[in-house]
Amino acid sequence: MSKTAPVVSLDDVSVHFEESTGLFDFRSEPDRVRAVDGVSLDIYSGDVVVLVGESGCGKTTLGRTAIGVQRPTAGSVTYRGQNIWDARENNGDVDIEFEKIRRSLQMVHQDPGSALNPNQKVIATLSAPLEKWHSDLSKEERHERVFELLDTVGVQPVEDYAFRYPHQLSGGEQQRIALIRSLLLNPDLVLGDEAVSALDVSLRVDMMDLMLDLRERFETSFLFISHDLANARYLAEKADGRIGIMYLGELVEIGPADQIIKQPKHPYTKVLKWATPSIHSDDDGRSIDTPVREIDIPDPVDPPAGCRFHTRCPVAREACTKEAPDLLDVAGSGQRTACFRQDSTHEYWNSPELDGTDDRIQQELISDGQYSFRIDLIFINRTASRACIVSRLARVLTHDRCVYHARNGSNND
Ligand code: SF4
Repeated sequence: MSKTAPVVSLDDVSVHFEESTGLFDFRSEPDRVRAVDGVSLDIYSGDVVVLVGESGCGKTTLGRTAIGVQRPTAGSVTYRGQNIWDARENNGDVDIEFEKIRRSLQMVHQDPGSALNPNQKVIATLSAPLEKWHSDLSKEERHERVFELLDTVGVQPVEDYAFRYPHQLSGGEQQRIALIRSLLLNPDLVLGDEAVSALDVSLRVDMMDLMLDLRERFETSFLFISHDLANARYLAEKADGRIGIMYLGELVEIGPADQIIKQPKHPYTKVLKWATPSIHSDDDGRSIDTPVREIDIPDPVDPPAGCRFHTRCPVAREACTKEAPDLLDVAGSGQRTACFRQDSTHEYWNSPELDGTDDRIQQELISDGQYSFRIDLIFINRTASRACIVSRLARVLTHDRCVYHARNGSNND
């Protein structure tokens, strides 16, 4: 992986959306959803970066911004040094034309069924970009290239599948076709937005392996979006890539996959790890209950002051409510983390702990032995069982249904 110059660079990018107001809503200002706030990220040639976080944390918006689909409201996004939106709107000196940028930044959607034209056979869908951008190729050469790619991704016999409609393909086959289409024009960066989430669990590993194989073959970079830390780990570790953790519009931790999984520094990364049993069980068997003070996610229209995680952070102190931590290097780890705890001289250490404890709050030492996680169960029905409490928090963090109540036909959590 070349670190000479980034392929795509996001510099202090923010994306805010105005919420539409109703006909009889006479407020002067519509609410602004702060989907992404002040994120900087460089993606290099051959890089694999996986963005992880809860629903609504801004990871998809950030991904779409990185490939020039979503316009940032502040900050800049450049492709090989060229501001993407200047190229798109032909502002100032444009060194790289937008058409070239558009070909170089591609996307694989979560739902390939809706991304493929239901009225077009596979061969037509895949030949169209070649016809548009490689007019020097004859029809036979275009078909030959499509057949070769179908063969590469294991959609065989190719002469049969090439002449099928999308509805005649399984979900996995549709996703392979969508993947081929994103790679047809030899892009520099592909955004995979929850690209394996819609597939059966049994197919996910195959698809992730295929994407990583194709990344090497096409010498492209991948930016994956995932709500699942286990998938993120698989992709990033195999590709020697990075995992970035997003919380409420901000990048709170990023670094090599191994470091993020085995030595997370940010309390929110530790919470995500706790909520991912397949990863958490890698630990030494410690029992850690619900490691957040509050379960509910704050409103992105009015995020908490200071560190945005302070309303839920199990180790938050008074200082965390006043100032937002910068994303800083963690010495010797390759990680960057936005938490005052990484600075041993910060006033955080002399600041009082935040309120929130009562006799329902449990304490348990965790991982680094330096502090205890406090548990505030105030937002959970008092009659809820321990199994449900654990299941609900896991659901909030991973977006699965409450398995316990689903099994027991109840919904009172
Ligand atoms: S800065 Fe404070 S609230 Fe934010 S993650 Fe660190 S300890 Fe928690």
